[in-house]
Amino acid sequence: MSDTSDNASSPAGPATRGSGYVHAPNRREALGALAASLVLGLTACSGSGTQPSRTGPGFAAGPLPPGAGLSAGSAGPVSRPSAAAPKVAKPYVPDFQLPPVRDGLAPVLTSVPTRHPVVFLTIDDGITKNPAMVALMKSHGYRASLFLTRNFVRGNPDFFRELTSLGSVVENHTVSHNTAMVAELDYAGQLAEIAGMQDYARQVYGRSPALFRPPGGAYSTTMRRAAAAAGLKAVVDWKAKANAGRMDYQVGNALRPGDIVLMHFRPEFAADLAAFRQAHLAAGLEVVLLEEFLGVL
Ligand SMILES: [Zn+2]
Repeated sequence: MSDTSDNASSPAGPATRGSGYVHAPNRREALGALAASLVLGLTACSGSGTQPSRTGPGFAAGPLPPGAGLSAGSAGPVSRPSAAAPKVAKPYVPDFQLPPVRDGLAPVLTSVPTRHPVVFLTIDDGITKNPAMVALMKSHGYRASLFLTRNFVRGNPDFFRELTSLGSVVENHTVSHNTAMVAELDYAGQLAEIAGMQDYARQVYGRSPALFRPPGGAYSTTMRRAAAAAGLKAVVDWKAKANAGRMDYQVGNALRPGDIVLMHFRPEFAADLAAFRQAHLAAGLEVVLLEEFLGVL
């Protein structure tokens, strides 16, 4: 039941974008930036000495619009809420559009290519359940994507309802957390692991997860196909971890805009969250719910 393989850090991938963004509180500019979508960071799957079956980039990127380079830093759209604000309930108009399932394969995200000063918190597994965790999340106003494993949470699903009532969202981290599933299970076996958690989450938490995180982080084309077949919109890995009370970065030594951060429900939750908090504040980044930013809530 140990989850140590999620600790297996991925070596740094290539840095694909700068952190330049410019405050430009102009909604028209922000909307204009919607056209500038893709990708860059996504193919930097920074992968993985420990992740055996990566098969190429997360998805085939469409052509980048001119000036879509993320390090350009010229358009930095940061919108303020306004009367005509879109239904996205947050102060940032997304400047990235999640690619659709293509050829039956769910796209893969390890970070979100955005110019906005945001980071995304994800918390995995669900083995340790301590009311102090809920209190900490509440005190900081954090909302996170909770990649839960059915067999770890079904003894006390109500614990996670306390977090969803604060705005966090339950996502899919399989039925049994087999970190070797990408190598050991065929398509049908992987689909069963993923679809079983879809069913559980829908029945218990009232929403079908949109995002899938592979146990340990390793994925393959077969897994991407199974995730899409189970109704998931993306496979989500990470760029940085809060672990053992400190931050581990795949690239550089600080959080960057769009980073997806991995944590776990572990006894050291408070220390990990403190490390994460120090890091995102030091980087001037706000914690935003990934599902809202991607429009998959
Ligand atoms: Zn895990």
